[in-house]
Amino acid sequence: MNAQRLDALFEALKAVMPSQQVGKSVPMSQFTTLRLGGPADLLCQIASVEQLSGALKAAREQEIPVTLIGNGSNLLVRDGGIRGLVIHLGEQFAQVTAPTPMPDGTFSLTAQAGATVQKLCNAAADNSLTGLEFAFGIPGTVGGAVYMNAGAYGGEMKDVLHSVTAMDLEGNTCVYAAEELALGYRRSALMDSGHVVTSATVTLRPGDGDTIRTAMREFSQRRRQKQPIHLPSCGSTFKRPEGHFAGTLIESCGLKGFRIGGASVSQLHAGFLVNDEQGTAADYLALIAHVQNTVFDQTGVRLEPEVRILGEDAAFTAV
Ligand SMILES: Cc1cc2nc3c(=O)[nH]c(=O)nc-3n(C[C@H](O)[C@H](O)[C@H](O)COP(=O)(O)OP(=O)(O)OC[C@H]3O[C@@H](n4cnc5c(N)ncnc54)[C@H](O)[C@@H]3O)c2cc1C
Repeated sequence: MNAQRLDALFEALKAVMPSQQVGKSVPMSQFTTLRLGGPADLLCQIASVEQLSGALKAAREQEIPVTLIGNGSNLLVRDGGIRGLVIHLGEQFAQVTAPTPMPDGTFSLTAQAGATVQKLCNAAADNSLTGLEFAFGIPGTVGGAVYMNAGAYGGEMKDVLHSVTAMDLEGNTCVYAAEELALGYRRSALMDSGHVVTSATVTLRPGDGDTIRTAMREFSQRRRQKQPIHLPSCGSTFKRPEGHFAGTLIESCGLKGFRIGGASVSQLHAGFLVNDEQGTAADYLALIAHVQNTVFDQTGVRLEPEVRILGEDAAFTAV
């Protein structure tokens, strides 16, 4: 990465947003729920659409690659960190609008991409709107949830998403109907287009506030009982293989508790690989590979990571 261009981008970013929103050599462990990962060359925290478009434009001018992150709850960043600019859409870009009634009796809610899924769910519940109960407890942002088509307990974002406003890497804004995003199991067309989600609109139905809150509480309780939510993780590390559950396969191979360095297979839920002893990304990647190989050898099923793996390995140091 060209150091002069990075310095020029650093200065340009400080011209489009307050300097405290821009950092150099920022440890990605601070921005991922796995609590690991090397530094991003540059990282900026976005507070407005104008800042986002300014940052994208400045990065393009300096020919610096851009990586987008939300809450970092589905990210594994390698120990060498991320070259170029990381753009974080988080709590400073997190407004949720009041519900708008639609002619067919439904209501729409729009959230900026950095709003947490939790905040959007709470807005739905506060307004007695049903449809998002399944998502309560998914620890990502609205942008990340759309990108991943996040889902749980029989629901997925696809069920409620109406449209998204997105920005291309040139800074042009476009609106996509949900049907245009090819939402499938943990995938979306955004993975190919590289567009940045700036806001998402969901369609919800009027419901009973108490029933909605009760369902959300129950899902939350199930998570607390069945998932190691108190330990650093990225949720289910692997996608659900057709006809199987990743956790059940991993457990059936005797891998619960298996450890490499600071990373281990959760004792509570074998689908969660946890960074419970301050491991490195190298530990975690080695654990992923070991689990994949063991499960394949013993069951013939290939596990595919759901976690998005970013960045570079740590530089090799000769001894
Ligand atoms: C304890 C735990 C439980 C979990 N449970 C679930 C679950 O039940 N169901 C489920 O589906 N997932 C679950 N996850 C995984 C994760 O929360 C989801 O994938 C979530 O949608 C990721 O959102 P994020 O904001 O953290 O995205 P990040 O992890 O920051 O990013 C994920 C991907 O989205 C892209 N992205 C992020 N924001 C944008 C944006 N604004 N525009 C375009 N691209 C963007 C990033 O580039 C990256 O490729 C869990 C994770 C944890 C830690």
